[in-house]
Amino acid sequence: MGVIEEVFSIDLPVGEQFRIQRCRYIPKKGETLKRISIVSGIHGDELEGQYVCFLLGEWLRANPDKIKATIDIYPAINSLGLDSITRSVPFYEVDLNRVFPGSKNDFLPAQIADGVVSAMKGSEIAIDIHSSNIFLREIPQVRIAKSQEKTLVPLANKLNIDFVWVHDAVTVLESTFAHAMNTLGTKTLVVEMGVGMRLGKTYGHQLLDGLLNLMACEGFLSIEPLDVRYPIQSHVGEVAYLNASCPGLFVPSIEHCQMIEKGSVVGQIVDPLSGQVLDEVIAPIGGILFTLRAYPIVYEGSLVGRIFGENE
Ligand SMILES: [Zn+2]
Repeated sequence: MGVIEEVFSIDLPVGEQFRIQRCRYIPKKGETLKRISIVSGIHGDELEGQYVCFLLGEWLRANPDKIKATIDIYPAINSLGLDSITRSVPFYEVDLNRVFPGSKNDFLPAQIADGVVSAMKGSEIAIDIHSSNIFLREIPQVRIAKSQEKTLVPLANKLNIDFVWVHDAVTVLESTFAHAMNTLGTKTLVVEMGVGMRLGKTYGHQLLDGLLNLMACEGFLSIEPLDVRYPIQSHVGEVAYLNASCPGLFVPSIEHCQMIEKGSVVGQIVDPLSGQVLDEVIAPIGGILFTLRAYPIVYEGSLVGRIFGENE
């Protein structure tokens, strides 16, 4: 059974406490220095990872004999944000994923970041599970900065996800948890899936299988690798962004995550008052729709979808 440990705590001015806990599973005998960290809740309004952490903990409790190395589960990094349905760090309104690697001698969010890095430093692998925000739904995907492509893509391919998106590094990424950990030598994958403030059981089980497979392949579990799906790779094509041309109510015409043809209708923007269809959102390229708007109100320019199309 896992051991629950507190890895960071700090008193807050309002008399509350901010703390981060992990559940640690170690093998009955053998290697304990080899370590993987499963991380979620850096954003307090992203809950898909909570379910994945539960599923993994449930599996490990049922299969203690299969554990070959240390497995740490951190479901709630921004614990105060999770408690109060807040994406950022409450009272500071700071995105925790923009203050890494942090510092002991700075404001609270930076101290939290520093505590997170200290706790996980030395892990061989970290998996950082995010959901989308409340506006967009994402199929399970891993996003990798171009500079990390060689190291991380082979690992991401084991995770039973649908899409690996390698994108050009922009400066803002340097302040993320993943960048900080990758810099320290921990191979860190960022998973995005589902929609903010919600939980999707199907995606949760899909990623559990991916985690078990990755841990089997990388020597953390003594089980046979699972038969997982091979993700679509972004380097073989291009991503097209679909934006609303006018304000209104976006009504999707198709299911999420499906192949669509160039010129097909992704959805309509309608006016509830007059009953008119204001515009149709048309797929500019054919391919897989991997992002689709979940929150129906749109403004001019709002993102309503992303399509990945393979080059011919
Ligand atoms: Zn997030």
